Amino acid sequence: MDKNYLLLTPGPLTTSATVKQAMLKDWCTWDEEYNVGIVQKIRSELCQLASTSDQFTATLMQGSGTASVEAALGTFINKNATVLVINNGAYGARIKQIAEYLTINLIALDYSETHYPDISQIKNTLENHPHITHIVMVHCETTTGMLNPLEKVAALAKEFNKVMILDAMSSFGGIPIDMQKLHIDVLISSSNKCIQGVPGFGFVISKKSLIAQCRGNARSLSLDLFDQWETMEKHNGKWRFTSPTHVVRAFDQALTELHDEGGVAARHKRYTANQSLLVSGMKELGFTPLLPKQLHSPIITTFLSPEAEHYDFKRFYLTLKSLGYVIYPGKVSDSDCFRIGNIGEVYQSDIEGLLQAISEAKDW
Ligand SMILES: *Cc1c(COP(=O)(O)O)cnc(C)c1O
Repeated sequence: MDKNYLLLTPGPLTTSATVKQAMLKDWCTWDEEYNVGIVQKIRSELCQLASTSDQFTATLMQGSGTASVEAALGTFINKNATVLVINNGAYGARIKQIAEYLTINLIALDYSETHYPDISQIKNTLENHPHITHIVMVHCETTTGMLNPLEKVAALAKEFNKVMILDAMSSFGGIPIDMQKLHIDVLISSSNKCIQGVPGFGFVISKKSLIAQCRGNARSLSLDLFDQWETMEKHNGKWRFTSPTHVVRAFDQALTELHDEGGVAARHKRYTANQSLLVSGMKELGFTPLLPKQLHSPIITTFLSPEAEHYDFKRFYLTLKSLGYVIYPGKVSDSDCFRIGNIGEVYQSDIEGLLQAISEAKDW
């Protein structure tokens, strides 16, 4: 077997042995044991993680996280709507791209990847374009690790009576989010990020009253979130098409482990401790984070590449991998950088081990 390594990437990420073991059984999708026992349980647990209110419902969707973003945009935003997209990174840009594929009327506020969205500009845009119906934003922009101003943007959505759609792919489960309190109508995430499952499906948590009005909106059969929701509701957790049974079973185990850890608050605390240890250790080794501390999420951190003449990312990456740690290339367009994630089954001792490995791998 290949040597095991720790994935310090923002998903797929390092999962526990027990999550992996949960996939060692083949499941029948017609049994109540699967549909009621696992799928319905997951749907209700996701709603509980998102809010204490019972006005939300969770719909699971096959595919990577992007499929769920596309399903949500295509189902909640009908042909006559206009969407405001706040974009400061690759995932914000992907939302725009999806909107273009779907020929959704789009107004975009584009910022550079190191730029924090400007709240007064967002407010002005809402004042000047009253026909905007929906606002879409990424919570943790995984491109840089920046945590976008969720509370302020959601408050504007409420003030101006817009539907708020949040790509919380890389934050849900790792950062507390109360959908009811913050006025978030639709939240999108996936199996392989902070809940610490394996890749294979995404999920969309939304107000029941909102999704109930979305019949006929979707422009794609496979990505018709309304139809998927209605089937799950009417048939006790049944997926319309082949469900990723092993992934779903692993996710159920991952949710149990999130609960055993002490819930989202405890996981947030662990991730925050991981990230601050990582940043302080990297600074001691001479690395500089791309973003100022106050803009950081506790999820993933971008570091500037060393300016040393002999630095080569590929070689650095391969050396670290041979020492048991996989880091992530940079995705920022105008800076040379790399990223290190600290989510997943990753603890302080792992970060200490990584820092030791980096000090050994630093041969420039
Ligand atoms: C991971 C991620 C996605 C989805 O990516 P996939 O590769 O399709 O799973 C979307 N948005 C953000 C912010 C992400 O971190």
